[in-house]
Amino acid sequence: MYNVNSMKAEEFISHEEIIDTLAWADKEKDNLALIDEIIEKAKKRKGLTHREASLLLACEDKTRLDEIYHLAEQIKKDFYGNRIVLFAPLYLSNYCVNGCVYCPYHAKNKHIRRKKLSMDEIRNEVIALQDMGHKRLAIETGEDPVNNPIEYVLDAIKTIYSIKHKNGAIRRVNVNIAATTVENYRKLKEAGIGTYILFQETYHKESYEKLHPTGPKHNYAYHTEAMDRAMEGGIDDVGLGVLFGLELYRYELAGLLMHAEHLEAVHGVGPHTISVPRIKRADDIDPTAFDNGIDDETFLKIIAIIRIAVPYTGMIISTREGKDVRARSLHLGISQISGGSRTSVGGYVEKESEDENSAQFDVSDNRPLDEVVNWLMKMGCLPSFCTACYREGRTGDRFMSLCKSGQIQNCCHPNALMTLKEYLMDYASEDTKKVGEELIRKELETIPSMKVKEVCSDHLEKIEEGIRDFRF
Ligand code: SF4
Ligand code: SF4
Repeated sequence: MYNVNSMKAEEFISHEEIIDTLAWADKEKDNLALIDEIIEKAKKRKGLTHREASLLLACEDKTRLDEIYHLAEQIKKDFYGNRIVLFAPLYLSNYCVNGCVYCPYHAKNKHIRRKKLSMDEIRNEVIALQDMGHKRLAIETGEDPVNNPIEYVLDAIKTIYSIKHKNGAIRRVNVNIAATTVENYRKLKEAGIGTYILFQETYHKESYEKLHPTGPKHNYAYHTEAMDRAMEGGIDDVGLGVLFGLELYRYELAGLLMHAEHLEAVHGVGPHTISVPRIKRADDIDPTAFDNGIDDETFLKIIAIIRIAVPYTGMIISTREGKDVRARSLHLGISQISGGSRTSVGGYVEKESEDENSAQFDVSDNRPLDEVVNWLMKMGCLPSFCTACYREGRTGDRFMSLCKSGQIQNCCHPNALMTLKEYLMDYASEDTKKVGEELIRKELETIPSMKVKEVCSDHLEKIEEGIRDFRF
């Protein structure tokens, strides 16, 4: 029944295979020799299978867990150095025809304020985001063929890319919209999107159907096979994720990695990113109503295991998480974070009062972007606003092969320095600027190639003179 190469959701995410995997992991969880073998394999940085990762997740031996955390941190450093890429979500519309029971935008929620941004309003939101210093957005809409048809999303993307305000520009628009047709994915590709992101929410079919009782999203197969259609439509950077708290986390990790294995087997490219949202409070939603919630320690263990299981995949954490968990997660594998986020429609321009809350979830990290950038640097991280790859045509398997060989570092590091420099020149507070300039000076010295170092220094000088948008 289980077939990684199948195009049918129930075969590449086989329930029986997951149940069998979890039973095997339970049986072997004290087999330290086997666990050591898997950790040794992970050290080769070629990844782990869903079975191997599930066994590590079941392991409770403190020494082995410390080794896993240490390895996750090392792999993070090897593939990503100390860089953290920054982005912001942009909510376009919260009209939605689906009935997802964990999301306040569900169609039956009659007291949430419904809103859809006009192109002028999008323009204002984007200018506000540019004025914060953002270069990379993830746009989000509910599913509603009347209010948010694909043409609306395409117009929004066009509008976003067209806005040039002072030195600001949005250079990469990632898209998080409902599962759609190959034809629509092709249109998104043509519109120049970066990554197509779609969270599975849960891989457990029975739970999935209960959690999505009404609307087109109820169809488990259509949703689960969306990434295959996206790839067929020419989008080769896709982002996976589950909403932790809906189902048993061990089930979700196995399913998530099986999905990654499927994409790799069928399309030759694994997921570009994996997000790790946890269910949070929101209008009409009480997270304690979901009894599969996970504590911080388990959450961080999952992050570390994903890191060593798919070392080449970017990992994203949002402002759903508070400052402390975000700080710890950065060491264990997270490579991208959002900052200064508003999760309501139009939230960057207008402040909402409590009774007109249109947010998808309550933000736990409310700090402005400048504070997040400053905080990252003081923790020894290098904030990056880089968007170079897809603009240079480094997507899909081309990107993956550079990533897997570690060569992408030669682009990421200087690009981080140059985009941080732009941020410091155009948007940073005095203190952030001081800390940042010092960091750039120090980091420049660590570029191994003399040639790259020279070009990067030259570009940094030109940025001081007012020229923008250099990239490797
Ligand atoms: S999760 Fe998405 S599809 Fe479901 S109700 Fe919310 S916006 Fe709609
Ligand atoms: S060079 Fe590519 S992989 Fe590296 S940070 Fe920039 S966009 Fe990401």
